[in-house]
This record gives sequence, C-alpha cells and structure tokens, in this order.
Amino acid sequence: MSSDLIDRLDAALPQTQCTRCGYPDCRHYAQAIAQGEAAINQCPPGGTQGIARLAQLTQQAVIPLNPDHGQESARAVMWIDEAWCIGCTLCVKACPVDAIVGVNKRMHTILEPWCTGCELCLPVCPVDCIYTDNASGSATGWAAWSQSQADVAKKRYTFRSNRLLIEKREHQKKLEVKAEEKLRDLPQHSHHTDPEVLDKKRAIIDAALARAKARNASLPAKE
Ligand code: SF4
Ligand code: SF4
Repeated sequence: MSSDLIDRLDAALPQTQCTRCGYPDCRHYAQAIAQGEAAINQCPPGGTQGIARLAQLTQQAVIPLNPDHGQESARAVMWIDEAWCIGCTLCVKACPVDAIVGVNKRMHTILEPWCTGCELCLPVCPVDCIYTDNASGSATGWAAWSQSQADVAKKRYTFRSNRLLIEKREHQKKLEVKAEEKLRDLPQHSHHTDPEVLDKKRAIIDAALARAKARNASLPAKE
C-alpha cells in the first residue's frame, strides 16, 4: 500500500471527520480505499464530486453514492440553544475539530466557522438543545464546502488528536508512577499484613504495570 496514495486520497476527502463512511476519520477511510477494503462511494459530505475525485485517483469508474452511508445534502451547521444547555461538556468531547467552547456547568457555544456539520455532537446532548441550520442553501457536496475549509478542519482535527494522545500518555504515566510507588513499599499501601497475600498482590500489580507500559508504548506517534 502506497502512503503517497493514502495521502492523495485523504487530501481528496472533505475532512469533516463525520465517520459516515464507517471509519473513525477521513484518514482511515483513505487507507481503507487504498487497501481495496472500502468503496469510493461512502462519503456523503463529498458527494458526487468527491466520488469523482476518488475515482480519478484510484482509476475506478464513478459510481453513485451508497445510500447506506447517507444522502448528499446541503452542508449543516450546528447551534446550541444556550437557554437549555446544562454545561455537561459531552458535546465538547464529541466534536472532532474543537468547534465547541464552554466549561463544566456553564453554557456552551459552537464556533460556526469551524463547525464541519458532522453532527457528532447531536446524539450526545442529554437535553437535546443542539440544532441544525442549512449553511449552504441548495449547494451540496464539494459545492457546499471549500478546500480551505477542509484544510482548516484537517488542521484542527490533527491538533486535537495530538492533544488527546498527549493527555492519554500523561494519564497513563501518572497511573504507572502510582503503581510503582505502591510496589516499592506495598505494606505501607495495603491493609493486608500476610506476606503471602502481599506477594500475590505484588505479582498482580507487577503484571498490570507491565501491560500498562506495553499499551503506552503501542500508542501511535503524534502526526
Ligand atoms: S460542532 Fe457538532 S457538528 Fe460541528 S464539527 Fe463539532 S461535533 Fe461536528
Ligand atoms: S451536550 Fe448539550 S447540554 Fe451538554 S454542554 Fe453540549 S449543548 Fe450543553
């Protein structure tokens, strides 16, 4: 599989990171196409023009959008009815491009220029206060979205992915440090006094620590 082809397929996708293609993000869909595992007609935001781009890059025939993945439609932009928002932050966690701002227990706002219309924030809102507006009139697919918007979305998604990766590494590191501290002086950190029980616990913590270190080592390098 050529990484150059993956790069070109990824660059041909709209970078909405909406997951409607069935993959976790645009890059994974590009990889699946390059590997021959996914068809070129699974991206509703790219629409017919998007399929033509992918067809050209893969030397395949243009085929209609697969309706199982959604319909080509006007670009959506979300907004929050702030009177109802309870500040739970679930939408912030769901947004792939960090387009929602707000802190715990305070109302949240969607920054319209950054919203890709992916709709991933809609299902997670517990009070259903996120709404959809039509942002492109009758224009659909790439006619409703520009290369510069796709570039911004990609940049924001990459930045967010790297931040989450760093946070995950830091969290795991903290757990490792705690486990190592406990191992160094287990009797001090346990209400058990029986040496046999302590030995068993030591072995369990040791094994868990080894697994955590292996997991941390297997986390992908940041882009
Ligand atoms: S605000 Fe909602 S629809 Fe817009 S990009 Fe974020 S998750 Fe997607
Ligand atoms: S998920 Fe809904 S209630 Fe929670 S912060 Fe977002 S908009 Fe507000």
